[in-house]
Amino acid sequence: MKAGTEAAAIDAVIARVEELGFRAHVSRGAERTIVGVIGDERPVDPEQFEILDGVERVVRILQPYKLASRDFKREKSQVAVGGAVFGGTGIAIVAGPCSVESREQLFETAWAVKEAGAHFLRGGAFKPRSSPYSFQGLGQEGLDLLAEAAATVGLPAVTEVVAPGDVDTVRRSSAMLQIGTRNMANYALLHEVGRSNHPVLLKRGMSSTIQELLMAAEYILHHRNYALVLCERGIRTFENATRFTLDINAVPLLGELTHLPVVVDPSHATGKASLVAAGARAAVAAGADGLIVEVHPHPDRALSDGAQSLRPDQFAALVREVRDIARAVGRHLLGDAA
Ligand code: PEP
Ligand code: MN
Repeated sequence: MKAGTEAAAIDAVIARVEELGFRAHVSRGAERTIVGVIGDERPVDPEQFEILDGVERVVRILQPYKLASRDFKREKSQVAVGGAVFGGTGIAIVAGPCSVESREQLFETAWAVKEAGAHFLRGGAFKPRSSPYSFQGLGQEGLDLLAEAAATVGLPAVTEVVAPGDVDTVRRSSAMLQIGTRNMANYALLHEVGRSNHPVLLKRGMSSTIQELLMAAEYILHHRNYALVLCERGIRTFENATRFTLDINAVPLLGELTHLPVVVDPSHATGKASLVAAGARAAVAAGADGLIVEVHPHPDRALSDGAQSLRPDQFAALVREVRDIARAVGRHLLGDAA
């Protein structure tokens, strides 16, 4: 729309878009409003929209992902979650155990990560394990513990949902729904978290391209759930000295292709506690909007992902290091002075 177009003209464009059988997605930026027209574009002539009052230009978005693209929204998105925000100048840190194992383990970790400067508490209750014989998570009991610990220490909770039918219950116990790498292409689940209108952390599939990640994001956005943050968590390569390979390229490239905030998970990307801080530093240097890090008070006793879990003191050191890196690239940790 032309800069300064009145609301009535924008509403008329939206009405016309819907009358033609499309969905209108409105992005109100500081300079101008963009009306996204989503649907089967074959029968449309852009002139139908160009002649409407207030329309400056009709642009076809060539990428298959539309709402996720920078063409739809030029300004970076800021995603507010439980009083904190992803995608501003502040860098958000999500930390906690891979799995919620017990009240004692969770509360000890929650207090420790809070003390070290984390902004969100993570912890899986439904664990999508590669083996059906591995610990599968505490389920509802784990969710209740997570909600209680998050409220007690004062951090919003982030936790994974693995089944469409669980979205509603997981939403009630958390500030943000995590979609794990193994479910990035579970379209029924993506539809459901899209419909939930709850903030979503979407992890890249371990064997998915960046375009596939953005198409998965599109599934969530097209339900008008724009509270979406992407996560690079390592991909499969020929290298087997580490669990996965951190695709650091993805961070600046996603910054070019999409307006969505991007965080990095150096824990799963490396699989090795001694490498996690370096991955975190590289991520922040490359422009990541946040980190998600696994922390356990006794990694040797963890029921999942102990090898990559940091002890609280190691996590506190990581936070100090990324604070310095953030400053060096013109950013700061969330909650620190800008
Ligand atoms: C997790 O964060 O605990 C997890 C299972 O991550 P991913 O889906 O990236 O493997
Ligand atoms: Mn894990």
